[in-house]
Amino acid sequence: MNKTIYFIANWKMNGNHNSINEIERVLNFFKKNTIYKFKKIIFCPPSNLLTSFRIKIKSKLIDFGAQDISKINVNNGPYTGQLSAKMLKDSGANYVIIGHSEKRLIDEDFKTIKEKINISLKNKLKIIFCIGENLSQKNKGSSLNVLKKQILSSLDVNKINFNNLIIAYEPIWSIGTGIVPTNNYLDKIYRNLKKFFKEKYKVNSPIMLYGGSVTTDNVATLGKIGLISGFLIGGASLKSTSFIKIIKNYFK
Ligand code: PEP
Repeated sequence: MNKTIYFIANWKMNGNHNSINEIERVLNFFKKNTIYKFKKIIFCPPSNLLTSFRIKIKSKLIDFGAQDISKINVNNGPYTGQLSAKMLKDSGANYVIIGHSEKRLIDEDFKTIKEKINISLKNKLKIIFCIGENLSQKNKGSSLNVLKKQILSSLDVNKINFNNLIIAYEPIWSIGTGIVPTNNYLDKIYRNLKKFFKEKYKVNSPIMLYGGSVTTDNVATLGKIGLISGFLIGGASLKSTSFIKIIKNYFK
């Protein structure tokens, strides 16, 4: 069976109105190259660009997501600086990234992450839920325990619909550093996560992605990890040329 491979572009705090050209180039590539059937492309630009990108890129070939959501569980109201689930949906997002380590570093704890996940699910936004250990946790050999704890503190056992949840394993020590874990390391992590999800959440095949310094050069090697269903890509997703090449190299 051919499974869908996700290529999710996390633009972080980058991009402007001209960046639509990058997305258009990706779209044109897939319009011309119809052999790439089993893939899902999702762009997560900063929220101020979502509406204009969605209006211009009206195509089923590309989907959009936000990088954050308010933890306040109402559609509108006196909450300065907040964007509700309804607002995100109105602006074109079908997905939302929650729990990214860069956001956690600024102001997000796991109680908040859980609230945001539940609000998103209730509002039919699909979630890209990020987990990952830092370097000192890795060096202590506690990566798996850290990941399990992050999952248990964020995902309510009886509430989660795994059709609407994508898990992105992003070791913090790999994000933006150019350092990528070995396939052995990753194999062990994903095998254990799969087992854990089955035991705790009764789900057989959760969608699990890898994120952290994915490039045109390492994507083919990372693609050999049987349990992953794609990639969350930061830096290398900003330019259409490298983003397209990552996808080409994966399917080569
Ligand atoms: C990310 O921050 O989600 C990410 C994977 O970044 P990078 O690819 O730049 O390491």
